[in-house]
Amino acid sequence: MYDVLIIGAGAAGLTAAMYSARKKLKTLVVTVEVGGQTNFTASIENFPGIEKAPGIQLTQTLLKQATGFGAELANGKVSKVEKNSSGFSVQTKDGQKFESKAVILAFGKVPRTLGIPGEDKFFGKGVSSCVTCDGPLWHVPRNRLHDGLLFRQKSGGTERKGRSRNDRQVV
Ligand SMILES: Cc1cc2nc3c(=O)[nH]c(=O)nc-3n(C[C@H](O)[C@H](O)[C@H](O)COP(=O)(O)OP(=O)(O)OC[C@H]3O[C@@H](n4cnc5c(N)ncnc54)[C@H](O)[C@@H]3O)c2cc1C
Repeated sequence: MYDVLIIGAGAAGLTAAMYSARKKLKTLVVTVEVGGQTNFTASIENFPGIEKAPGIQLTQTLLKQATGFGAELANGKVSKVEKNSSGFSVQTKDGQKFESKAVILAFGKVPRTLGIPGEDKFFGKGVSSCVTCDGPLWHVPRNRLHDGLLFRQKSGGTERKGRSRNDRQVV
């Protein structure tokens, strides 16, 4: 029986694990993979205390901190969370079962994409799903937003913009 079970090992889940394990609570992180969205982030420059770091480096440090304090890690995709008299029962798709007094949901999100040519290739390199994250990286005057996706590409000093969902093309 764990004190705290955290679903997801992105920045949020690993931070929660670090705090939980440091308080000497028996802590387990169940996750599909480590890093989450930060794995797609070439450079993070707005994490307090870190000037600039690749996303993957940030979460590897968080993982080291969390496990250093005693948090355990299990690989698996959680498919069921059930409340019972002593806490929660958490099951993964591949049949693992864990019991915990508390559960923290930190399974983040998968950005919705348009599925258009060029999108995969340039994701994180000009095609972004987060204006707050990437807007400041582009020192050109205007942003253009389509269905939550910001298409910005700076090439040879000129600004190139994505077209709307109807056009189905990144230019
Ligand atoms: C290209 C890109 C650039 C970005 N740049 C910046 C930036 O510069 N600055 C900034 O502040 N933010 C940036 N962001 C946003 C930032 O990365 C996210 O806000 C942050 O990583 C979210 O962390 P999270 O832990 O909440 O979720 P996620 O990172 O989404 O992690 C979720 C975790 O849960 C796991 N998971 C999901 N479902 C299950 C399940 N059923 N069972 C078990 N595990 C599960 C996943 O495997 C993953 O480990 C960027 C995002 C992207 C995609």
